[in-house]
Amino acid sequence: MSDDMNSMINDSASDQSSGVTKRTDDNGNVLLECPECSNDIVMDADRDYIIGDILECQFCGTEVEIVSMDDAGVEIEIVEEEK
Ligand SMILES: [Zn+2]
Repeated sequence: MSDDMNSMINDSASDQSSGVTKRTDDNGNVLLECPECSNDIVMDADRDYIIGDILECQFCGTEVEIVSMDDAGVEIEIVEEEK
């Protein structure tokens, strides 16, 4: 009777670790894109960063935390400020 076959439309969330890119400036510093204002957040090439380090965007003041680092690049996410 009811031919209600719900064909699973592939809602392809194109979110599978493809957003991580590695950009560097002329000095070898790694450039991250601020999730808030899209300006560059610079990771100093002379400094050793570890996962969990906090960086601050010098343009909008947003703090981001390094959540992963590998050869493909660095992944960051916004640190929610507690009041
Ligand atoms: Zn910013």
